[in-house]
Amino acid sequence: MDAVTPPVTIARHGAVHGGVQGNVAVIAIDFPPVNALSKTVRQGLLDAVRALEADPDVAALVISGGPGRFIAGADIREMSQPPDAPFLPDVVAAIDACAKPVVAAIAGAALGGGCEIALACDLRLGGPKALVGLTETRLGLIPGAGGTQRLPRLVGVAQAIALICEGRVLKAGDALALGLLDEVVEGDLLAEAIARAPGVTKRRLSELPVPAGDDAAEEAAIARARKGAKGVPAIAEAIRVIRAAGEAEFTTGLAAERAAFLALRESAEAKALRHLFFAEREAGKVPGLESVAPRPLEAVAVIGAGTMGAGIAVALADAGFAVTLVERDGEAAAAGLQRVADLYARQVKSGRLTDAQGVERRARVTPTADWSRLAAADLVVEAAFEDLAVKADIFRRLDAVAKPGAVLATNTSYLDLDAIAAVTSRPQDVVGLHFFAPANVMKLLEVVRPARTAPDVIATALALAKRMGKQPVVAGNCDGFIGNRIYALYRRHAEVLVEDGASPQEVDAALEAYGFAMGIFAVSDMSGLDIAYAMRKRRAATRDPAERYVAIADRLVEQGRLGRKTGAGWYAYDAAGGKSADPVVEVLIAEARAEKAIAPRAFSAGQIQRRLLAVMANEGAKALAEGIALRASDIDLAFVHGYGFPRTKGGPMWAADQMGLRAVVTEVEAAHAAGGAGSEPAPLLLALARDGRGFADWQPTEQAEQQGGQ
Ligand code: NAD
Repeated sequence: MDAVTPPVTIARHGAVHGGVQGNVAVIAIDFPPVNALSKTVRQGLLDAVRALEADPDVAALVISGGPGRFIAGADIREMSQPPDAPFLPDVVAAIDACAKPVVAAIAGAALGGGCEIALACDLRLGGPKALVGLTETRLGLIPGAGGTQRLPRLVGVAQAIALICEGRVLKAGDALALGLLDEVVEGDLLAEAIARAPGVTKRRLSELPVPAGDDAAEEAAIARARKGAKGVPAIAEAIRVIRAAGEAEFTTGLAAERAAFLALRESAEAKALRHLFFAEREAGKVPGLESVAPRPLEAVAVIGAGTMGAGIAVALADAGFAVTLVERDGEAAAAGLQRVADLYARQVKSGRLTDAQGVERRARVTPTADWSRLAAADLVVEAAFEDLAVKADIFRRLDAVAKPGAVLATNTSYLDLDAIAAVTSRPQDVVGLHFFAPANVMKLLEVVRPARTAPDVIATALALAKRMGKQPVVAGNCDGFIGNRIYALYRRHAEVLVEDGASPQEVDAALEAYGFAMGIFAVSDMSGLDIAYAMRKRRAATRDPAERYVAIADRLVEQGRLGRKTGAGWYAYDAAGGKSADPVVEVLIAEARAEKAIAPRAFSAGQIQRRLLAVMANEGAKALAEGIALRASDIDLAFVHGYGFPRTKGGPMWAADQMGLRAVVTEVEAAHAAGGAGSEPAPLLLALARDGRGFADWQPTEQAEQQGGQ
């Protein structure tokens, strides 16, 4: 932005509408990219409102964010600093106090603080692209400039709880239906706002009573909000403060809101959520790709229509692609299409899609066993069996049929991508697109970069992720990439804890108390124990004998206990899917301990949490030093979006920083003593701990220095 252009300017217009005439001042905000409420914007708005209030030539004010915009919210970077005057409540109070009518012309996003400014105006006119919402709870906060007090006066307490606690973003039509917008203007929004402004009568929400509510609706909204809180303390605070709006004077409620906002701003949860906010924006930036254009993607294909292939086909169809779904034969192709149909039927049943949408999207997927159909594809995603020979055969055939420049991707979980690329004559076009189950739901997309992949193929993968609404994380090629590599250590040490004395239920309970939706053993039972079993067998020959091997999971599989699908795994499952501890498993665990002459000892929930967190961060440090992960925050994203790590804890690397890396080292040393080879403390972790630093302030350039600049 031009440094000399102020972010807030004033323009004057003469207006006449419906017989009312007057001069209208437009306060225009132009602060790219989204008109965030930085200090200079707050100051500009405050100065403008005060000056225009005092200007006898001005009859009415319009606040505009320019074409396609309004004010998308606070400047989140400033939230890590102490609050700096003028504060947003000062700006909002000035608008509220203004004796002249103030109209909000909302052409784009009016979110968070932007919505609070709009709520302080007398009339809210939206364009068709307007987005309105108090989204602060997504960042672990509550609205801090009157949003919790004005919104209930507009829509009632129950609706305000729902909107604020869910952080909902309303499109223009929905905002109009709920009364957050007074009107949606199809034509020239600013011209209409200017024309209407002089005739607008003052309507301060702060002076309106809170509409009498329906207790049942309020209780239902509270129950739903608490259920969705996921460890975010802001939800309980939002409920408390919104209810206060119905019980106390506006100014009392405002003071309660501000106090809660300022306290939450400093909370560990809000800091973790802010960290993830920035991490999510950073992850798509890959050094060296800044000016690389993605390849065009129109036609896409998926090979293999099993669990993953069907889910990927649905995710692609959801993003608007026509998808060719290739299977081994006609029968398998038909079964694949049935899986796709089932996935859509579920979405229709849950109300996420209408019948017509379900039918339309399903029709975007064409099953076939005819490989010549792959010739038209710009992108092929292979999701066949996890077997190098199978994948090598598929990529050889693909090489023969795919058009030049097509991106050839594999969804492999662990296999060597360089080896897969090497069977083709075009390794530069091969990339890993590692989706997570269920692929049409999980947000993570690990983009795996083998040694010879062309930069524009990575750029294409990132563009695809964006189009699919996925969170990309770029990973280097190694066993398990970022996610499964770290997960393998996490699981190994969960099993070590069990062999040393914890029960699977205790480990799971500790993880759930930490914030995971499900403990690791319950997750293993859900995904099936046979997959990891097969992988362990494959690796048996090359496993370091100095690594401690816990064989309990092998015994479970050998007894036919493959998890939920066989009614038993680490837990026993009843017909309704309810799980319970199983004496058979207790016997197996006792036998394993006896074989190694282990005297079981007790682990507290805190010890279990610290040990497993430390192990994840340690393996993460190794992935960072090797350049497998570009930054610590990418690892955090992988775990939050792919493995159920609690958002409010910010991911394993962030959480390790909060624990303090010296304490992490102590835990890792204990884990190494228990787990043997493969669990050694990472040199990067030791160095950062020694220097009193954290992963958050480690730069990828240090990785090059550590590796001698290679
Ligand atoms: P799956 O067994 O459910 O499906 C594999 C499908 O591929 C089957 O329908 C099979 O008929 C088909 N297939 C096999 N060989 C083929 C060939 N030559 N041509 C066409 N189709 C062929 O397996 P899945 O769980 O969907 O896993 C598929 C891939 O995704 C694997 O590489 C796996 O490691 C990876 N993956 C799985 C998960 C998961 O949670 N299941 C998660 C991420 C990645």
